[in-house]
Amino acid sequence: MNSAESAALSLVCKELGWEKSLDGLDADLVLLNTCSVRITAEKRAFGRIAHYAGIKKKQKRNFTLVVAGCMAQRLGGKLQEQFPQVDYVMGTSSRQMFPLILRAAENGEKAIFNIEEKAVFSFSDSHHDVDLEQGMSFRSFIPIMHGCDNFCSYCIVPYVRGREVSRSPENIADEIRLVAERGVREITLLGQNVNNYRREDGFDFAALLKYIVPAAAGSGVKWIRFLSANPVNFSSKTIEVLAENKVFCRHLHLPVQHGSDNVLKAMNRGYTRDRFLQLVREIRAAMPGITLSTDILIGFPGETEEDVAMTLHLMEEIKFIYSFMYHFNPREGTKAFDLPGRIGEDEKKERLSRVIKLQKKHTTELLKSRIGSTEIVLIEGISRKNADELITRTEKDEMAVVPGPKSMIGSFGVLTLSSLKGNTFRAKELSLVKS
Ligand code: SF4
Repeated sequence: MNSAESAALSLVCKELGWEKSLDGLDADLVLLNTCSVRITAEKRAFGRIAHYAGIKKKQKRNFTLVVAGCMAQRLGGKLQEQFPQVDYVMGTSSRQMFPLILRAAENGEKAIFNIEEKAVFSFSDSHHDVDLEQGMSFRSFIPIMHGCDNFCSYCIVPYVRGREVSRSPENIADEIRLVAERGVREITLLGQNVNNYRREDGFDFAALLKYIVPAAAGSGVKWIRFLSANPVNFSSKTIEVLAENKVFCRHLHLPVQHGSDNVLKAMNRGYTRDRFLQLVREIRAAMPGITLSTDILIGFPGETEEDVAMTLHLMEEIKFIYSFMYHFNPREGTKAFDLPGRIGEDEKKERLSRVIKLQKKHTTELLKSRIGSTEIVLIEGISRKNADELITRTEKDEMAVVPGPKSMIGSFGVLTLSSLKGNTFRAKELSLVKS
């Protein structure tokens, strides 16, 4: 989400005639787009703010310093109390102020407005800036929602992004056509919980997926993914639409977070272990061969050894292709911050290490079982290790390296996965798919 919003802000700069400074040292304006989800992300953002505030103060350099994003939304004016060198604090709902800030900077003035009063969230028209993509020129994120109403007890997002707002389907289809014209072949619909997408007239996520199929088919977009899909609102109607339309990639990220009902309840996730397993069965029955990845949060307050065992058991039952695994870090301002029964650091790390070990085993087993399979791939760029080889990706989000000419980049090809090194496949030959 942060990366899509950075691209949208960068496009505003370009529209107003601003150019990217090569190293930031000669910039007239520095924009830091921050993330609050993890405490480590905030710490890094503080470090960057301190760095640029220090340059302004010590070197008496006169540039405009803007802090945007979730952390700006969360801390507001407190950031300026700590760093008076910050000129503007622009929360996620205040991005429409950005053109005014740029204009004021051009004229050497200070834009004056009460950001809090005017803070109404609006979606940007485009979130694909080739200059920021770093190997993602043919893929684009397309936000479809903002905010979250779920209030998982460990998560800061509903507090920094506010209540859910669903973007208009017409606007989403327009962006698909726009990025397709710019060469994008794969899109990822983004939202904190896409399954909660809902317009006032009842038009929901399943309806949106159905609605965008013709928009994608008429453009060059051949693959559609989405993130994140909270299992609690994953409807049978959505599964039906996915199964009926091959444009939706046969890989789903389904964040389970934990395998124990006690912990899921304390996390306020809204589903049980059984409901999750039932959902997985439904998805696999509708789309045989689909791969699933997940998020696992271990070491939640009150978690017992038995709860950890249930999580490992759930992993064995489902066999995720990969997982984002992390241990609980108390986040001030969330309900879980005050929960009793915190697990010690060493204990959390030890529990997490068992989860990681099991996931590595599953990933290796599942990837090895794919050797010999013939796949359609999106050819994304040149391999960093060998200029004669191309990096490609399957619809299951697997990376494959294959010899081939640069001229194929941006097209779809066919290859056979012949061997595996780490988590990257190798193939011997690549041919283009006729469009
Ligand atoms: Fe946070 Fe839960 Fe919303 Fe995800 S669904 S953003 S974890 S509150």
